[in-house]
Amino acid sequence: MDEFELIRRFFDRPSTTADLGVGDDAALIQVQPGYQLAISTDMLVEGRHFFPDVDPYALGHKVLAVNLSDLAAMGAQPRYATLAIGIPRVEIAWLEAFSAGFFNLAKQYGVELIGGDTTRSAEHVFSVTIMGEVPTGAALRRDGAKVGDDIWVSGELGTAALGLLALKRPDKADQLKADHTSWKMMRMALEQPNPQVLLGQKLRGLVHACMDVSDGLLGDLPHILECSRVGGAVVGWEMIPCHPKLKDWLYGESSTSRRHALKALLAGGDDYQLLFTAPSEHDALIRALAQQLNIRLTPIGKICADPGLFIVSNEGELLEAPDLPSGGFNHFQ
Ligand code: ADP
Ligand code: MG
Repeated sequence: MDEFELIRRFFDRPSTTADLGVGDDAALIQVQPGYQLAISTDMLVEGRHFFPDVDPYALGHKVLAVNLSDLAAMGAQPRYATLAIGIPRVEIAWLEAFSAGFFNLAKQYGVELIGGDTTRSAEHVFSVTIMGEVPTGAALRRDGAKVGDDIWVSGELGTAALGLLALKRPDKADQLKADHTSWKMMRMALEQPNPQVLLGQKLRGLVHACMDVSDGLLGDLPHILECSRVGGAVVGWEMIPCHPKLKDWLYGESSTSRRHALKALLAGGDDYQLLFTAPSEHDALIRALAQQLNIRLTPIGKICADPGLFIVSNEGELLEAPDLPSGGFNHFQ
């Protein structure tokens, strides 16, 4: 099968809304008057972001999901995507599953694939560029946080990190995989995350700053603090919602398990939840939104004038090394 047959078979789906989709040198799209185009790119590399034997359906899902999460964080409505792939060989069943994972998620959010690039490479590499629409001036940015804002998080943190721990650490695997349902949840959180697309759009007008948590809270929250030029933040680690297994470890006897749990909670990657700050007057509106969308939205701290990121217990005790994990995930650290 040559490159063009491959594109036709797995990636060329007619677009109903683009002026020109797959097949020409470039696609053509229009943005509605009064809207801005929000554009973001994220890539997944074998051995770095996924294991070589990962389920291709899940991978097709995830490569789009991580990009949808960036648009969610901007409060944009996803519209179009392009997909660049590098693969070592053509495996029909693998590509079929990958494209099914991609297109099933694309359909769920009304995203159309309008172009891309296909090449041979030593390892699997995927890069998606996603485009979405947001009313002019209404995007949720990282630079609007104010001193006194509440800090909120959606869903729970650390579940994907537990999934990763179970796959990477044989000594932890038995404990984590013992309960089948809960292991399935951890694995889904890691391999097939659900981006908070609807939540992002509903947060327009309610929040001062927003981003998605992909590298862990300790890695990501400082971006909001820096972009917003506010001093710092106080976060109650006991307020952060998490998986029951993580709770067991956080409050268990073993100090190594406690450290693993704090690391998963505060510095684990791949959560794809939204982290946002809002004035306290919006508290009731945000809680009502959580009910309406049937998701968890939890206040976990406050933006403060003192510089620094302070992680405290319910009693106000500062979490310090060696319990405090060092930063989030940084590829060049
Ligand atoms: P060019 O040589 O102009 O770069 P290509 O031969 O790479 O064009 O691609 C032909 C068409 O197929 C283009 O419209 C391109 O956007 C699209 N395309 C290539 N690879 C993919 C892919 N993986 N997914 C979707 N569209 C693709
Ligand atoms: Mg090309």
